[in-house]
Amino acid sequence: MGISQVNVVNRSRYEHVEEVMTYMSEQLLLDTVTVLLTHQGYATLAQGHEDYAILRKLSPRLYRIYLSKRIPKYYISTVLTHELVHIQQYQLGKLFFLDQEKRKLSYNGDVIDLGLYEYKDRPHEIDAQQKAEYLVIVHKKALKKVLK
Ligand SMILES: [Zn+2]
Repeated sequence: MGISQVNVVNRSRYEHVEEVMTYMSEQLLLDTVTVLLTHQGYATLAQGHEDYAILRKLSPRLYRIYLSKRIPKYYISTVLTHELVHIQQYQLGKLFFLDQEKRKLSYNGDVIDLGLYEYKDRPHEIDAQQKAEYLVIVHKKALKKVLK
């Protein structure tokens, strides 16, 4: 099993980013995907619904995560993992845009009109957040075992 190639910009800012990306990519079986990570000022992210990160699919196996520079340190793992779960949703064909301009997407066979759902009520967001929170706990437990 391979791991995702992760290109971390501004590496010194968040030391554990690469470790988290590698671990989570393995957990989510994202072994054929390249994920670029860019740290971004708040202004660029403000228009998005997700305050701390925005995901862009650049090509079928290439994604970029824009991570806000104002993200609290304790929340980085969860936010990155949340975005990686979205990448998994895309890669499995569970999530795709039906109409980018009208902001409609398909998730698990259901049509999701982004205009009709609050961010927190969107099924693909609920799944991403629940999975991310679970995986972060699993990761912390695994790290504790290594340290013992
Ligand atoms: Zn999300």
